[in-house]
Amino acid sequence: MIKTDVIIIGAGPVGLFAVHQLGIKGLKAVVIDNLDKPGGQCIELYPDKPIYDIPAIPECTGKELTDKLLEQIKPFKTNFYFNERVDEIRQDKENWIVKTNKKNEFFSPNIIIAGGVGSFEPRKLSLKDAEKYEDRSLFYAVKNKEKFKNKNISIFGGGDSALDWALELSKYSKITLIHRRDEFRGAPHTLNEIKKLSEQDKLSIKKLYELESIEGDDNIQSIVIKNQDGKTEKIKTDIVLSFFGLIMKLGPIAEWGLNMDKKTISVNSDNFETNKKGIFAVGDICAYPGKLKLILSGFHEAALASVECFKRARPNEKYKFQFTTSSKEIQERLGVIKEKK
Ligand SMILES: Cc1cc2nc3c(=O)[nH]c(=O)nc-3n(C[C@H](O)[C@H](O)[C@H](O)COP(=O)(O)OP(=O)(O)OC[C@H]3O[C@@H](n4cnc5c(N)ncnc54)[C@H](O)[C@@H]3O)c2cc1C
Repeated sequence: MIKTDVIIIGAGPVGLFAVHQLGIKGLKAVVIDNLDKPGGQCIELYPDKPIYDIPAIPECTGKELTDKLLEQIKPFKTNFYFNERVDEIRQDKENWIVKTNKKNEFFSPNIIIAGGVGSFEPRKLSLKDAEKYEDRSLFYAVKNKEKFKNKNISIFGGGDSALDWALELSKYSKITLIHRRDEFRGAPHTLNEIKKLSEQDKLSIKKLYELESIEGDDNIQSIVIKNQDGKTEKIKTDIVLSFFGLIMKLGPIAEWGLNMDKKTISVNSDNFETNKKGIFAVGDICAYPGKLKLILSGFHEAALASVECFKRARPNEKYKFQFTTSSKEIQERLGVIKEKK
């Protein structure tokens, strides 16, 4: 069981800034996210798009904002748990126990839910048989390239992920790239590279085809694809990689007994606590009168929630409001002045 002052669910911009607000108050946090990296919507949906309404930053992309937030919380040496979805929350007297789908357990008096629009999850193949091959020979993400070397790989999808991985894995494996439409949606440079490889017979492209069936025992041995005219084709395949985009699922959050308002969690706007003591909701996932789904609103919400987290994590200490410009204590925590001996 991992003990901490605060468990943050969600490593989007608001979850990251919550680490800062807790850190300057001397609180330790862990951050859990279902994605494989921090940044939430900023990284998953618009890494290269400019944002113009972050205070004091006239313009920055989703990726640049994420990088800056990570830099700002570096002094706190926070432990991140990626590729883990929080499934269960249960109470233990004044504390909470959080359990993930990887069976990790966390123990804390405070939970900050910064879950945005829910956890990002891959859109899965609808084929009945598909599930039994998952994580053995069917994958929705590439986590370790080594597993994909010297194989026959069928990649489904027409966007950046499918194209980028087709290019990368074609260096070591035989790739068939299958798309249900006639046009791919990718960066022009990537599309040119794919075209070149296909002309050199180093990669095979099947357009206007969809997956019809999977054949195999414990592992996949071949797949059958079908085009719109009903023509089928069997392809020798060891691994299927499917990139049909991400869906946002509120998922387990809806089952934690919190007061919900459609797909958001109702909070009070004094400290962003939910109907359960010690569980806070900030950022896009929270609802209160006048809520604006903006990053800057989430930052404010995280700041206020962190004060209440302090009171619960340090019941015997008095909370002191301090400015970062003048507080030696905060500056020591940030590592900008040496700690007292
Ligand atoms: C195209 C686009 C442009 C935008 N432009 C702007 C703009 O210019 N200015 C602005 O202020 N805002 C903008 N926004 C909105 C902004 O991105 C959101 O307000 C912001 O991302 C909310 O941050 P968050 O941290 O609350 O949630 P998110 O960024 O959604 O992050 C939530 C994270 O929680 C994780 N999560 C959820 N549930 C679980 C669970 N059970 N277990 C584990 N992890 C979980 C998710 O995987 C996700 O990574 C834009 C949004 C989009 C889509």
